[in-house]
Amino acid sequence: MPLRDSQLRTIHMHLCVPVVMAMLLAACGPAEERPGPAGDVISEDATGDSASDGAPQDSERSTARLQHVELGTFDSSAAGLTDPIAFDLPVGVTAMVIRVEGDPAGHYIIAALERDAGFSLIPKAWLAQTPLPDACVGPCANRIAAQPGAAAFLFPNTPLVDLRPGKHSLKIFAFDAARKPMKTSVSVSLDWVRPKDPPNGWRLPINICFTSAMGWTKATGPQQPRLTAALATAKKLFGQAGITLAPIRWFDVSKSGQYIATRTGPTSDLMKLFKSGAGLPIGVNVFLTERIIKKGALPGANVALGLAGGVPGVPNSVGHARDGVVLSLHIPTGQEDVLGYTLAHELGHYLGLFHSSEAKGASGGGAHDTLPDTAEHDQHNLMYWSVTSSATQLSHEQRQVLRRSPWLIAN
Ligand SMILES: [Zn+2]
Repeated sequence: MPLRDSQLRTIHMHLCVPVVMAMLLAACGPAEERPGPAGDVISEDATGDSASDGAPQDSERSTARLQHVELGTFDSSAAGLTDPIAFDLPVGVTAMVIRVEGDPAGHYIIAALERDAGFSLIPKAWLAQTPLPDACVGPCANRIAAQPGAAAFLFPNTPLVDLRPGKHSLKIFAFDAARKPMKTSVSVSLDWVRPKDPPNGWRLPINICFTSAMGWTKATGPQQPRLTAALATAKKLFGQAGITLAPIRWFDVSKSGQYIATRTGPTSDLMKLFKSGAGLPIGVNVFLTERIIKKGALPGANVALGLAGGVPGVPNSVGHARDGVVLSLHIPTGQEDVLGYTLAHELGHYLGLFHSSEAKGASGGGAHDTLPDTAEHDQHNLMYWSVTSSATQLSHEQRQVLRRSPWLIAN
């Protein structure tokens, strides 16, 4: 949806594009775009050193806390729907991420998720109630948002629903750039998380990916005072949830990722940037760019401070279509530097947090999250749609959501 000039003047300090779709999608940037034409560009130009330097090893991840389960490959019909996909949730699993991967031109979302006795985690009728399959906000206490190419969905992301053992049935809906049902095939897998709070807390591995924006590289970036300060801020904010950002590793990736103007489809700047992180060790790729711009916007206008590859991103996946978060290093004249706050906000999305409140737009909106302990339109919440240096707080329930992430490793 094109932005109006009048909007552009007011949004450059905001994290997310405050257009109607952004409110509906509750995601930061990429999801509100429609995919571009399919292509076959795959960039593998990461130049980072992937040698083990504290990188989490597989043995650390295959703990009793986390179990990855492949459900298989499933075809969607001309109506975009797969047949019901059955799985049995074992006793003791308290959180789950459903992962869907397929054609980069397709968008994927959950059409229905039910357990025995017909209890619905995602009501099967929700798609029939809306022309916009991009996200389920109203009918779904557990909010979900579609993503192109690869999508992930965290359950529960609110105390209003819980997981219980037993037989479950899942349906995926695939749609194209025009939001028309898409006949395709998708692979579906699950990450099961069992509660296991380690005595020394959690850590989240981070890969800082330099595109040479601002002239920063793997050699010079780690000494930049601005970046050092931003990382300290993000560490402090995540520390509220008992999560340490560590290890932090540094890599150079393709310089072609310095300006992000197109965001969906395999040939888009954003998808190429995400793919430039291929080969890096398991960690959240944080790409540093000059600006996030947009065709149709004012020339050179920075339209977002950051973008996340998903809410949540696909766990423990690196270098694929949606893997990572992106930060703009541009600071508009006269505005404060919120790089560290933006990093923490995007990591919050990437681990599964939606905005505590969405932007109010011309057509209303301002939807509030389904977490009952976040105040409405509270600009002090880290996940408020617009990030400032006052956005420092995470509620108890938000911290619980973060601590369910399959990304986390015991300290
Ligand atoms: Zn956001």
